[in-house]
Amino acid sequence: MASNTVNSRRRPADDESNDGTDESALETARRQLNRVADGLDIDPNIVERLRHPSHVHRVAVPLKRDDGSIEVFTGYRAQHDSVRGPYKGGIRYHPGVTEEECIGLSMWMTWKCAVMDIPFGGAKGGLVVDPKRLSETEHERLTRRFAQELRDTVGPKRDIPAPDMGTDSRTMAWFMDAYSMQEGETEPGVVTGKPPVIGGSYGREEAPGRSVALVTREACAHYDLGLDGTTIAIQGFGSVGANAARLLDEWGATIVSISDVNGAVYDPDGIDTVDVPSHDEKPEAVTQYADDRISNEELLTLDVDVLIPAAVGNVLTEANADDVQAELVVEGANGPTTSSADSVFSERGIPVIPDILANAGGVTVSYFEWLQDINRRQWSLERVHDELESEMLDAWCNVRREVEERNVSWRDGAYSVALSRIGEAHRIRGLWP
Ligand code: GLU
Repeated sequence: MASNTVNSRRRPADDESNDGTDESALETARRQLNRVADGLDIDPNIVERLRHPSHVHRVAVPLKRDDGSIEVFTGYRAQHDSVRGPYKGGIRYHPGVTEEECIGLSMWMTWKCAVMDIPFGGAKGGLVVDPKRLSETEHERLTRRFAQELRDTVGPKRDIPAPDMGTDSRTMAWFMDAYSMQEGETEPGVVTGKPPVIGGSYGREEAPGRSVALVTREACAHYDLGLDGTTIAIQGFGSVGANAARLLDEWGATIVSISDVNGAVYDPDGIDTVDVPSHDEKPEAVTQYADDRISNEELLTLDVDVLIPAAVGNVLTEANADDVQAELVVEGANGPTTSSADSVFSERGIPVIPDILANAGGVTVSYFEWLQDINRRQWSLERVHDELESEMLDAWCNVRREVEERNVSWRDGAYSVALSRIGEAHRIRGLWP
């Protein structure tokens, strides 16, 4: 396993001239940090420290394919900051995974855990692989070997992975089993997002979508948009998009457009979100379930009350931000809005509720799962829902207070809550040696 610490003081990711769909998560994350830190009473030395991940692990993961050939995949685990607790964050399987992306996403995890006041730091990992090219058994072998390569890096008190793009509860079950077999004891707390039968939490799978729905409900109330009749377009119908869509539909909103990689469907009278299978129920089937098809790009600029990008990063850019007609944007995906698009929205007075708050239900229920694993006691689904709602409402109120008192954007308000907590923890712990 190769491991290196990024400690350069260069600022390659801050070049303000670069914006568009190719803006890396690290560029966006560092720009956001710089901007917010400037307006906050936080020691610049601590900010400098937070600009860099503590560790970036890079591993080579060999896989024996079903045909007997060997293919070697590159894997990463970026660990950003652990001042408030063990590193925490998902593992994604995607051909576009890069070291920079993992670092940027690990920074967002640090802020996300802090904004929710969860005692975890931030991490993110990934394998550069197209999971669609893997058979079930290849997926299992690759995951077990990846777990082995990361064995000294992760652990229930050190760094706790979870599902992300291209991974799910099965992936977590294999990861946990491989780790446990090598440790010689069952360690359910090494990952979260497992199936409930092996220590997973009820409600974890739908938690990010549930938090997006809860935050959308609160944001609509804040802006005097009753949910009843509010029109919503949601990009992505995976775990985040589909769960958010179904809950908002149930609560009275009209979901007029949803999408998957093949395109979007549009019905101004509202789509029956239960009728359309989510990605987990039937992959990439959205466009088979309605007549009026539009493109993913058109979905983003529909005349709706609320837009929820819940698929991939960097979909709202300088190129389309001026065409967005929604009155409110709620980020379901991680990093769907580039820095320039954010500026356009702010000039146009379109509030953007940031990912680190809106989709934080996932890591919040991951925390519940970790508590259940440590205590060897499972919570009921009802308890998970109740506690998630209460944590989300607390976080929402804390961020709203910042927004109202300091007259800042929702993103800056969320960053400010998170950075104050992280900065204070760094100040009190101090620098060793
Ligand atoms: N991958 C999810 C996220 O981006 C969840 C991470 C976790 O539960 O640790 O928030």
